[in-house]
Amino acid sequence: MDSSCLFCRIAAREIPADIVRESDGVVAFRDANPQAPTHLLLIPKEHVTSVAELGDHHGSVLADIMQAATQLARAEGIADGGWRLVTNVGPDAGQTVFHLHFHLLGGRPMGWPPG
Ligand code: AMP
Ligand code: ZN
Repeated sequence: MDSSCLFCRIAAREIPADIVRESDGVVAFRDANPQAPTHLLLIPKEHVTSVAELGDHHGSVLADIMQAATQLARAEGIADGGWRLVTNVGPDAGQTVFHLHFHLLGGRPMGWPPG
């Protein structure tokens, strides 16, 4: 827990968020500035700044996040229409919160490549 980190504090329920799912190692909540009808953020409870900082022991939490994404896409009703799971690393990608998070986006057609 990094008490200066927004997403650590959301995971600890010190800062309110619309949490839609919580398991031992993973929390999912709605993005405060949604870019699609469904826009969730999936995070490990453990503070890791980005995928670039992941180590060998993070395999199981990553698997849990991927599995949660599929289940949440079904729960959100976007499984058939399609969805995107994306994580930003560093300034060119637009990372603004330095606690690893995966954006789960769906509910509208999305262009590729992203702008
Ligand atoms: P990124 O630009 O990939 O680092 O994404 C950070 C995301 O966090 C953005 O989509 C923000 O809208 C979202 N965000 C920032 N603060 C909050 C918050 N307090 N609750 C929920 N989402 C947030
Ligand atoms: Zn954190």
